[in-house]
Amino acid sequence: MAKVALIYDKIFLRHETGSHPENGARVEHTYEYLKSLPLFKDIQSIPPRAATKDEITLAHTEGYYETLVTIPKDRRVALDPDTIFGPGTLEAALFAAGAVIVGIEGIVRGDLERAFCLVRPPGHHARKGLAMGFCIFNNIAIGALKAIEHLGFERAAIVDIDVHHGNGTQEIFYDDPRVLYCSIHQAPFYPGTGSKEERGSGAAVGKTVNVPLSAGSTESDYLASLDEIILPALIEHLPDIVFISAGFDAHRDDPIGGMRLDSTSFGKMTQEIVKAAKQSARGRIVSALEGGYDLTALATSIEAHVEALMA
Ligand SMILES: [Zn+2]
Repeated sequence: MAKVALIYDKIFLRHETGSHPENGARVEHTYEYLKSLPLFKDIQSIPPRAATKDEITLAHTEGYYETLVTIPKDRRVALDPDTIFGPGTLEAALFAAGAVIVGIEGIVRGDLERAFCLVRPPGHHARKGLAMGFCIFNNIAIGALKAIEHLGFERAAIVDIDVHHGNGTQEIFYDDPRVLYCSIHQAPFYPGTGSKEERGSGAAVGKTVNVPLSAGSTESDYLASLDEIILPALIEHLPDIVFISAGFDAHRDDPIGGMRLDSTSFGKMTQEIVKAAKQSARGRIVSALEGGYDLTALATSIEAHVEALMA
């Protein structure tokens, strides 16, 4: 059994969004559910830490970071029509990015092989200089850059299975040949990016791989996209670490997504990604929660995901 860590802290509940679909109950309910499962005793629980300014600005502009840290502590502002920033948001967002880094650091120390970061706010829509689509900092992008710039990794691959395209992550790595960004997503759909023709630029042409699928796509469509397009590209890239932008809003019960996956579909997809990571990256994977808005579907999908990470 692989050594897998769950990285979570109640600090993620301090990002208060009210009746918004992206709310604290998502991670709180999932954590309580995971704790009730027999598999929980075989998972290491690790607390996150706050990412530092130097770590955040690996992926974001200094101006964007400064804008957020200077918002008065008692204010609630909308950074975009979907993205609320309140008194506890900065702390939660710094810890969400820091959780991914803690996972990589655990792998570097040899304490673990894979990690799942049960975090919020999510990250993959966050652009270099802009909050977007419930996302403040791009947790996965910050982690991938930390791994490469400071922790001795040469190449990273990111597999984004959220129902939405990770426009922020794509933007951050569009001309960076060290990081392969792959996404399967519903199209046409928010945020509107992620066509097959978007393939990267300069030395990184071919290092962005988009697989847009129409609404109503099923497990077999997702598994075929992984097996025929994404995982061959991943193995060819030869990453020494793999990241998963683990959104679960392609579940058939999700109120936002329009796809037809079951909870067990996420387990099967994760098994395929683990197999590919074992071929090229010694099985090293850090996965971080993105979307997923039906509490029951989210918890059982994460169960299947974590179980597959443990294999
Ligand atoms: Zn999403």
